[in-house]
Amino acid sequence: MTQNLPPSMRFIERDWLSANQILFFEDDGSASVVDTGYVKHAALTCALVERMLGGRPLARILNTHLHSDHCGGNAALAQRFGAQIFVPSGSLHLARDWQLEALSFTATGQRCERFLPAGSIHAGQQLTLGSLIWEVYAAAGHDPESIMLFAPSHRILISADALWEDGFGVTFPELSGESGFQEQHEVLERIESLQPTMVIPGHGPIFVDLDLALARARGRLAWLKADPIRNARYALKVLVKFIMLDLEQATEAQLFERLRYAQVFCDASAQADLPPDQALHWSLESLVKAGALARQGDLLISP
Ligand SMILES: [Zn+2]
Repeated sequence: MTQNLPPSMRFIERDWLSANQILFFEDDGSASVVDTGYVKHAALTCALVERMLGGRPLARILNTHLHSDHCGGNAALAQRFGAQIFVPSGSLHLARDWQLEALSFTATGQRCERFLPAGSIHAGQQLTLGSLIWEVYAAAGHDPESIMLFAPSHRILISADALWEDGFGVTFPELSGESGFQEQHEVLERIESLQPTMVIPGHGPIFVDLDLALARARGRLAWLKADPIRNARYALKVLVKFIMLDLEQATEAQLFERLRYAQVFCDASAQADLPPDQALHWSLESLVKAGALARQGDLLISP
């Protein structure tokens, strides 16, 4: 799939702890990158990007949204290459002031190295990346400030966590009683109207079967909306699995210390109608049963 990208673009597929990177080679000889992975693997991100750059200077870092798995390499890449960082406009002041709780890092028990944005990108704007024109669209639902990028000339969509090949990211606003399902619905409508022939998601491989991805996403959205406790349970498992990917191994007590004051985890627990300690226990049991975690005595291990 990567071979079908325009020659000015490169795709680095990562995993569920670190979001994918998309590189653009600019006409002036410099390069830009969209999204930078999680802080734990920032050195690996730097090495992967450096190899792809082939000696070009990295001038710009752009983030689709400021979740820790999309901007955790910002600081390291900016330091290594002197790149300037651009974030969605709604998150600019939070990032400049490094408001950890509002940026979701503290609220999810996740980590991010501090970085300083040089500016912002906003819905309705047009950007030139890799000598293609990209339209910026709002992509709320998963994250109220998220954006996605669409190149009309090549019908390529950079969808972040608004659409994956099989689903989309947790609808976080719904966990605290705010609207998110409606926004997710609108994002899927927008994506359908754009009719991309290639989608580069925040996680997982590039895909081309838009109809299948939209059908899966709509099916999942309808299932979540029918009983919001499903979104809460999904969020609990995602949050716990993410911490386990970060820590690799931990006891239940250590995980509880990491998550007990994390507001998003507490909101999801309340919506799942469980006290946080029981919500953690339920999540761990579910993840072990699904084979996403293993138990060795007191220790939980992320395989
Ligand atoms: Zn996200």
